Amino acid sequence: MNCPCCSGKSYGDCCKPYHTGEKHAPTAEELMRSRFSAFAIPNGDYLMETTFPSKRKFHSRKDLQEWGEINTWTKLEIIDTPTSDQVEFKAYYTDEHGKPQLHHEHSLFRMLKGKWYYVSGKFLS
Ligand SMILES: [Zn+2]
Repeated sequence: MNCPCCSGKSYGDCCKPYHTGEKHAPTAEELMRSRFSAFAIPNGDYLMETTFPSKRKFHSRKDLQEWGEINTWTKLEIIDTPTSDQVEFKAYYTDEHGKPQLHHEHSLFRMLKGKWYYVSGKFLS
């Protein structure tokens, strides 16, 4: 299967080793890609685990899992990585009513003990 993050690689050679915990995403962009794939799979546990520890209280595993499930994740576009800890992206998906949606976000990541985490995001229109 092609990786849902649209890298052109197979899932096994791309985001899967991050989801299984075999490897850690080496850059914020790769973490971002693996989180998009985790919505597509979906894998709510991975989405929680890759959220910065102090920010986890603002999210719920169940909500992340459901958000992944009810939508069909069609495409990820990385727009810009202005610094090593920032990623601007566009995530395309079809919602539960079959309507195409675009989520444009500028996300902030942070490294802690050698692992990247998602900290927060600003939604752009
Ligand atoms: Zn991938």
